[in-house]
Amino acid sequence: MNVLLVYAHPEPQSLNGSLRDFSIKRLEDAGHTVQVSDLYAMQWKAVLDADDSTATQTGERFDPVRDSLRAFADGLQSKDIELEQQKLLWADAVILQFPLWWFSMPAILKGWVERVYAYGFAYGVGEHSDTHWGDRYGEGTLAGKRAMLMVTAGGWETHYGPRGINGPMDDILFPIQHGILHYPGFDVLPPFVIYRTDKIDPARFAVACEVLGQRLDSLWDTPPIPFRRQNAGEYHIPELSLKEHIAPGRSGFTVHSSDNQ
Ligand SMILES: Cc1cc2nc3c(=O)[nH]c(=O)nc-3n(C[C@H](O)[C@H](O)[C@H](O)COP(=O)(O)OP(=O)(O)OC[C@H]3O[C@@H](n4cnc5c(N)ncnc54)[C@H](O)[C@@H]3O)c2cc1C
Repeated sequence: MNVLLVYAHPEPQSLNGSLRDFSIKRLEDAGHTVQVSDLYAMQWKAVLDADDSTATQTGERFDPVRDSLRAFADGLQSKDIELEQQKLLWADAVILQFPLWWFSMPAILKGWVERVYAYGFAYGVGEHSDTHWGDRYGEGTLAGKRAMLMVTAGGWETHYGPRGINGPMDDILFPIQHGILHYPGFDVLPPFVIYRTDKIDPARFAVACEVLGQRLDSLWDTPPIPFRRQNAGEYHIPELSLKEHIAPGRSGFTVHSSDNQ
């Protein structure tokens, strides 16, 4: 199988760097082919702007949506974007690895998503009408592929527990797992999270690698998070709100997973 690891940490000798090296070796030893997009090492351009298209400037104002579509459709995207899209199409599984920074991904990784997820590639895919609002949330360009987050967090696991002050980790990761991964079609596996990173010592690191190794070994048969599919009949279209008999009386992120019915 082909695995793309998108890695966002500036320091190779960090905990994240060690986990990345462990993961590559574990996957390759199991016979998989791994490509790594090491965003800091690549000096990845994080900001989306007019330079993302090689089209001749016409003097029109820059429109991030329209210009993304034109560049994608006309083969005029900048080379770095095109290469990352090719890696995504090549991959059977994609891992996004990052330290939790201000309750989300580092800016360089957010910029990777903004630029690589072009109009026509990751959004604006499929028919958009009052009866079919695009191929998204379980359908789309990346359907059939698996994705998983590998995250390190300074906070304790209890800080992210059901009543923890930071809010549940599943809620914090929802915009990434549901909005960024499920949206263009990925089956999203439960995340691998390491908490309380300032207390990592060789013994805890060994335990973390043991658990991570098992997660990587079972990348192909771990059941994905049962996010509901937009076009499977559970949502009104085009309102895109859950039908009344699904999770009746409930709201919030958890209603979009079927195990919470
Ligand atoms: C801007 C910013 C925002 C942040 N926001 C949040 C937030 O919102 N929520 C939150 O919970 N945290 C937050 N943090 C903390 C952040 O999540 C952690 O600093 C990060 O996850 C640690 O990962 P690292 O790879 O940088 O670890 P490192 O600092 O490199 O290492 C952590 C520990 O692991 C040890 N270690 C590293 N490699 C090994 C190895 N091979 N074997 C054994 N031990 C090893 C190190 O000695 C160190 O003690 C934030 C940090 C920053 C800088």
